[in-house]
Amino acid sequence: MKFPITAGPTREFIDPFRFISNPSSGKMGYALAAAARARGQEVVLISGPVNLPPPKGVKPIPVISAREMEQAVLSHFSGCDVVIMSAAVSDYRPRKTSPRKLKKGEETKTLSLVKNPDILKKLGRKKGKCLLVGFSAETENIIDNAKKKLRLKNLDFVVANDINPSTGGFGRDLIRVTVLSREGRSWVWPLLPKREVSRRIIELVLAKKKEVAN
Ligand code: C5P
Repeated sequence: MKFPITAGPTREFIDPFRFISNPSSGKMGYALAAAARARGQEVVLISGPVNLPPPKGVKPIPVISAREMEQAVLSHFSGCDVVIMSAAVSDYRPRKTSPRKLKKGEETKTLSLVKNPDILKKLGRKKGKCLLVGFSAETENIIDNAKKKLRLKNLDFVVANDINPSTGGFGRDLIRVTVLSREGRSWVWPLLPKREVSRRIIELVLAKKKEVAN
């Protein structure tokens, strides 16, 4: 089956040397790509800038900004069976990117931002038979927020993770998640290596695909 998976952060440039981003390591998306590949799937790994080698047998598509990620995801969407969006997409980008390095000057400076496209929400509107999996990284109301995203983005599964530095966070090898399904089921998993969480997510997704096909 055709499995586009997104990973890592996006970068939104202010000028050629500065950008807005986040500390996403890409570990979750890369682990998911390896797990899907290990189950024989045709994986396209659309990744923002990270320091990880793509897993063997996976097609890497490097991107930088949210808009580039959107283009790459949309161009791999037709005929796909499952999309997993684990990328930490920047919600906003600078209204303008200066072609030259900005000079320092005034004591305060205001940066005007515009909203980036919500890639997953767009996919949710035209999902067809494609199964959609999103991630919901929050520090408060973890489950309620995840449920909202499941509905709003028309997802089949949402993986809720608590990114409070005391319990989880970005860039770690271990993660504690709760997976919620469209049908109202939930799977509460303890703190586990991302590799194991990925294996379990891929199992859930493949079981769901099988159920829908029968
Ligand atoms: O709404 P929120 O950003 O928390 O939703 C998280 C989910 O939506 C993740 O799966 C993320 O990859 C995806 N997303 C997206 N495009 C955005 C923002 C988030 O596809 N602009």
